[in-house]
Amino acid sequence: MADLVAGTSELYGQKRSARFFFDAEPQELRWALRSADGAINVTIYKFPDIAVSPDLPDSDGTVMWQSTHPRPTFAHTVLVAAHTVLKEHGETGYLTKWAMHPYPVALVQDLRRLHMRDDVCNLPHDLSCP
Ligand SMILES: [Zn+2]
Repeated sequence: MADLVAGTSELYGQKRSARFFFDAEPQELRWALRSADGAINVTIYKFPDIAVSPDLPDSDGTVMWQSTHPRPTFAHTVLVAAHTVLKEHGETGYLTKWAMHPYPVALVQDLRRLHMRDDVCNLPHDLSCP
């Protein structure tokens, strides 16, 4: 969750792409977010061996999933997802469930601020901040 929120926020700056991975030992599931013309492309690559794959280029992986969304829609969806997780578990519950990974309050607030500042979004924003 934190990686996805942070990765999305990165695309509001000069950066055109963000990457992070999930350790699905022995596999690596690598998420690549690419920003172009106001849209965000999401590609998830699978690599068979996480012991070596972090050094490999995306093209060596197998594409598991790919889709492109307008940035406002994507950011909004990520915020709603983050908000839903928080509502469901609360900060303490989240910490318990994802031991050692506190709910990324600051990251979510950052993304929300960028989304409200830079995106034209007509969806409701009653995502009260924690
Ligand atoms: Zn929105």
